[in-house]
Amino acid sequence: MTTKRKIRKIECSHCGNNFYAKSTLAKYCRVSCQTQAWRHASRSRQEQLAHEYEAELSEVTNKDAA
Ligand SMILES: [Zn+2]
Repeated sequence: MTTKRKIRKIECSHCGNNFYAKSTLAKYCRVSCQTQAWRHASRSRQEQLAHEYEAELSEVTNKDAA
């Protein structure tokens, strides 16, 4: 099974559809999947940063109180 195939069958990381791509870096079957996945990741990142921001704020507040 060491044939060097250029075209790969890949499962879309967003919707799970199988698609074919020449690049091993391809993760999504279409641009809209890529965009939606990026938006979702971006939103998750924002939520994570918001939590960290609030944690830092409370840390500062606690330090001021102590
Ligand atoms: Zn897809």
